[in-house]
Amino acid sequence: MSSSDARIDITLAPDSGASSVPAGSADTKGSGSKRNIFDLDRVSLEDFFEQTLGEKRYRAHQVMKWIHHRHVTDFDGMTDLGKALRAKLHEHAEVRAPMVLHDQPSADGTHKWLLGMDPKNAIETVYIPDKGRGTLCVSSQVGCALNCQFCSTATQGFNRNLSTAEIIGQVWVAARHLGNVPHQQRKLTNVVMMGMGEPLANFDNVVRAMSIMRDDLGYGLANKRVTLSTAGMVPMIDKLGEVSDVSLAVSLHAPNDELRTELVPLNKKYPIAELMAACQRYVRRKPRSSITFEYTLMKGVNDQPQHARELARLMRQFENAVQMKDAAKVNLIPFNPFPGTRFERSPEADIRTFQKLLQDARVLTTVRRTRGDDIDAACGQLKGQVMDRTRRQAEFRKSLEGGGVSDAA
Ligand code: SF4
Repeated sequence: MSSSDARIDITLAPDSGASSVPAGSADTKGSGSKRNIFDLDRVSLEDFFEQTLGEKRYRAHQVMKWIHHRHVTDFDGMTDLGKALRAKLHEHAEVRAPMVLHDQPSADGTHKWLLGMDPKNAIETVYIPDKGRGTLCVSSQVGCALNCQFCSTATQGFNRNLSTAEIIGQVWVAARHLGNVPHQQRKLTNVVMMGMGEPLANFDNVVRAMSIMRDDLGYGLANKRVTLSTAGMVPMIDKLGEVSDVSLAVSLHAPNDELRTELVPLNKKYPIAELMAACQRYVRRKPRSSITFEYTLMKGVNDQPQHARELARLMRQFENAVQMKDAAKVNLIPFNPFPGTRFERSPEADIRTFQKLLQDARVLTTVRRTRGDDIDAACGQLKGQVMDRTRRQAEFRKSLEGGGVSDAA
């Protein structure tokens, strides 16, 4: 089955068991002239209350709590707001979450949602519970233009960036389903921006959404519990370091430029030396933090002992440069095959050997357990319908070559 065969027709009506959440949209201003409150972090919402509604700024806090803590989206259900304020909110604002098109639990507790962002685009969000923590894997774009060779999302091409509302809306849908209450009944303990898309290519919307994730009036997650994963957009790593202190994960996947350029074409623009230098700057700005380097193990491609030794050297060089023990963590990810891929998962024995070689070189190394196999929930398997992908993908690649990534995304 080709990847296009595997795509889900989102023009179908939502499943009968799906939520009746109002449809989402690419329009960040909401339907008509109404503002979608999901698009606003604390400061923007306070500004909206003051400047548009003529209300006290602190009123915004009440609304944020209703939405993100109690999952109420109807202003009439926000009972501690006066009637006049509710009427103003109805006139100028709305709370519009993505539409749940499909809702799929896995036997091991993993849960996947297919969320409709507009009539032509859908993305997936995955919740993975594990030993006292619950991690939500969130998407930042519909598809992805970076074309990593081993990635299922890459086969779909790039369609568009998600708005702040569409990013935080994924968290809201999961939190509501789980009955998550920040600081009280916490089911959602971590968010990883590792779903579809390159988060740093959608910088402003991702940063604003992460600010709501970390806000006590939002989801109250500590900085270290929000992780942004990048394929290595060097200038944007520096920009992220200036405005945020979330955890950083880097999709490395190869220990040398020749192999990495083959697997992650972005490496041609930002080779390993430049990427590692940006990682050093990120860690130095935020003392005591570490960076996770993700390494997908593919049989006979990047899983041989010489690759492990090369990777260990790279990690030691990094730690020596920042003069910080355990500043680098390696997360080994056994490849999850998908229809049409030419890669295979490394044999278990090779994975263990690779891990041991790193550990013997005193590199902190973990192996990611595969979860949600029965619902194709593992990283790199997120699928969504992508329309008009050829033209947009070509435009995006062209902008990459020209160096205008953030503007074009
Ligand atoms: S691995 Fe990430 S950056 Fe690379 S193509 Fe897939 S979604 Fe995009």
